[in-house]
Amino acid sequence: MRIFHEMSRYGYEELIFAYDELTGLRAIIAIHNTTLGPALGGCRMYPYKSEDEAIIDALRLARGMTYKSSAAGLNLGGGKAVIIGDPERDKNEELLKAFGKFVHTMGGRYITAADMGIGSEDIEIIHTETQYAVGLSSGPGAGGDPSPITAYGVIRGITACLEEVFGDGSLKGKTVAVQGIGKVGYSVVRHLFEEGADIYITDVSQKRVDAAIREFGVKSVPPDSIYNVECDIFCPCAVGGVINAETIMQLKCKIIAGSANNQLKDDACGDALVDLGILYAPDYIINAGGLINVADELSGYNRERALRKAGGIYDAIKRVIKMANQKGFPPHLAASYLAEERIAKASEIKGRFAPS
Ligand code: NAD
Repeated sequence: MRIFHEMSRYGYEELIFAYDELTGLRAIIAIHNTTLGPALGGCRMYPYKSEDEAIIDALRLARGMTYKSSAAGLNLGGGKAVIIGDPERDKNEELLKAFGKFVHTMGGRYITAADMGIGSEDIEIIHTETQYAVGLSSGPGAGGDPSPITAYGVIRGITACLEEVFGDGSLKGKTVAVQGIGKVGYSVVRHLFEEGADIYITDVSQKRVDAAIREFGVKSVPPDSIYNVECDIFCPCAVGGVINAETIMQLKCKIIAGSANNQLKDDACGDALVDLGILYAPDYIINAGGLINVADELSGYNRERALRKAGGIYDAIKRVIKMANQKGFPPHLAASYLAEERIAKASEIKGRFAPS
């Protein structure tokens, strides 16, 4: 792998490797861009098949965090860590502490958080070795589970989309198809129910489906049938890549707005949605509530403030739609444009005040 070539192509700042013989820790931290502030991004633990695969994942995820933080209006940069290993088999307290020590050596240039394979209980352990860890579940300054805030942000984003498409942000009587009734999806369904939407759900877990039917009286469809539910809003809250060549042709919605990360299989799918007249709320803008919640711990967690900031997702989606309309861009490109513009402005200001 041509690492420096890759780093220069996308403007990465640092790629750091940590190895600890005693615990077997093999971790990589990628820092993409710190123009707006220190890099914040989760730590993923996964049994990568090769070191190259782990490096590529760290780099790709770190870059995504730069865009997400910038678009959310946070003064944070983009970074991500990966630990090579199977969380079921290889994760233990000593390894997490060794990772915490590694993060601490970076002096706050990188702030870690939970991601796939690393939960908030692991962050508590990492936090015993470094203050540069957020997403704590308990204790003073802990933000707790970010999912309800993520769901709230999704609802605010949906409101902005409804105003654009229907001229009115009300969910009353609107049909919404929710894919994935997990931590975020369930909370989204609760909001939709309270606002009088007509709700269809699906999940691969029948237990979750049954719980939502019991509590909200929603209708359910099998997982593969969610794409062709005739609805106003398709709300993906499960896995990535669900907007692809196969599913696009089945969609019967006017808006796609949900919490799942990396919803578009590729950029061409984003272009195809424009051709079909479907408004897409870019995932990393509408699902930024979780990031906003954990980042709030850096200033001494305040739930009202985190909620207020997550409410700003409404304005962020409005800005994306306006930019897309003005420039004739598809929304996913308008989102990148806005994120890059904010970084470029900050960089210009920094340059102006740099010592000569
Ligand atoms: P979760 O694991 O709690 O829930 C996901 C749900 O989707 C589960 O109930 C699972 O059974 C279901 N599911 C998986 N594959 C499915 C399929 N093919 N069809 C239907 N259902 C399926 O996860 P979560 O925390 O609710 O996150 C949901 C999505 O939102 C993920 O993509 C996550 O990365 C993203 N996200 C979450 C947060 C957060 O605060 N939790 C923040 C930002 C983004």
